[in-house]
Amino acid sequence: MASITLKNLKKVYDNQVLAVSDFSMEIQDQEFIVLVGPSGCGKSTILRMIAGLEEISGGELYIGRQKMNDVPPRDRDIAMVFQNYALYPHMTAYKNMAFGLENRKLPKEQIDAKVREAARILDIEDLLDRKPKAMSGGQRQRVALGRAMVREPAVFLLDEPLSNLDAKLRTSMRSEIIKLHQRLGTTFVYVTHDQIEAMTMGDRIVVMKDGVIQQIGTPAEVYHRPANLFVAGFIGTPPMNFLPAVLEEDAAGYCLRLGGSALSISAAGSPLSQECLARYRGCRITLGIRPDQLTLGEEGLPAQVDVAEALGGETYLYLECCGVRLTAKLPGTVTMPPGATVHIQIPPQQLHFFDQESGRNLLCPSAASAAAVISEPPSELLAEPQSPGPKKRSLLAKAKAFARTAHREKTTD
Ligand code: ADP
Repeated sequence: MASITLKNLKKVYDNQVLAVSDFSMEIQDQEFIVLVGPSGCGKSTILRMIAGLEEISGGELYIGRQKMNDVPPRDRDIAMVFQNYALYPHMTAYKNMAFGLENRKLPKEQIDAKVREAARILDIEDLLDRKPKAMSGGQRQRVALGRAMVREPAVFLLDEPLSNLDAKLRTSMRSEIIKLHQRLGTTFVYVTHDQIEAMTMGDRIVVMKDGVIQQIGTPAEVYHRPANLFVAGFIGTPPMNFLPAVLEEDAAGYCLRLGGSALSISAAGSPLSQECLARYRGCRITLGIRPDQLTLGEEGLPAQVDVAEALGGETYLYLECCGVRLTAKLPGTVTMPPGATVHIQIPPQQLHFFDQESGRNLLCPSAASAAAVISEPPSELLAEPQSPGPKKRSLLAKAKAFARTAHREKTTD
């Protein structure tokens, strides 16, 4: 068990590709952290730097309180599970799991007990004599997890471990990995490009783009308060809708002008602060609304149905509205022919407001002072003894809260 501190981590590959830039965060002992983002955003590079498989170009990495920048992988007390399982093809499942322990010269009985215990937890006891080619993808991935488990590492690193599995198996393995994490009580760092995996598995999610952290938060925080347009569009299925609008003052307070229509945001009480309303008065902003927040009514914004996808329990309406495409997620009872005109209703309280230039979510509070903290995590944190006493836990919680706010602001200001 261990916390991980990543402080201004940077990776420049030999071909001058800047894969990771100024990555800072505190991963708490026993936390399940998911790094998520599109392919090429630097997730695997972070994981490989933690594992010691990739040299760190700048910044500092601590596992527990030990600085790890120059410590070889075998001395980092980590175990890594890869997408392609990386099992030895000529060895049985048993031997694949036992091999690392044999190399460490552990007594035979101890190895046997560990392998059989892992096999029992992963439900692969009857596969122990099989070689990888006689196993399904899901079974191979269990063996790979078992091989990591028997080492009893302080940190589990998982790099897209479910990507090679079919959709159904992925769902069941997902919940098994969550249970495994709870059972082992070990720190997990998990990389995926799949936002559903991130949302369902992580205690906290780190959303990345182009080597830069966009937001760190719990799944609920990232979903309900995305820090910027990128996070808003990346997290959630179907993705959030975006509409260009102008914020105007009217007799009743404020309204949002969308094409030829106006949406009052004063009637239900504006979600934007008075300061923000004054600052953005007369400005173009981008509105965001989740597809499941849209409803149809007698009145509202006129929109044309492009396609209606009836999925049984729900219907997705793809609409043309104010010159942009919108998706509405409606009950399965809704049917609409293409070309039909409908009126969509947008509840002002469910709107997200983004600065058009920076993409920043205007509902996220500004905390410039907190941003400074991230480049200098509390020094006591790194000097604390290994045993997780209440003081350490409170410091970690403090650092975590700072990191979360700081990153949110740092990337959106
Ligand atoms: P992800 O895991 O998010 O898909 P990676 O961490 O694998 O992203 O890669 C981040 C960036 O670094 C990409 O632009 C990728 O092409 C580049 N990259 C990864 N590995 C190497 C390497 N060994 N040499 C050069 N560039 C690399």
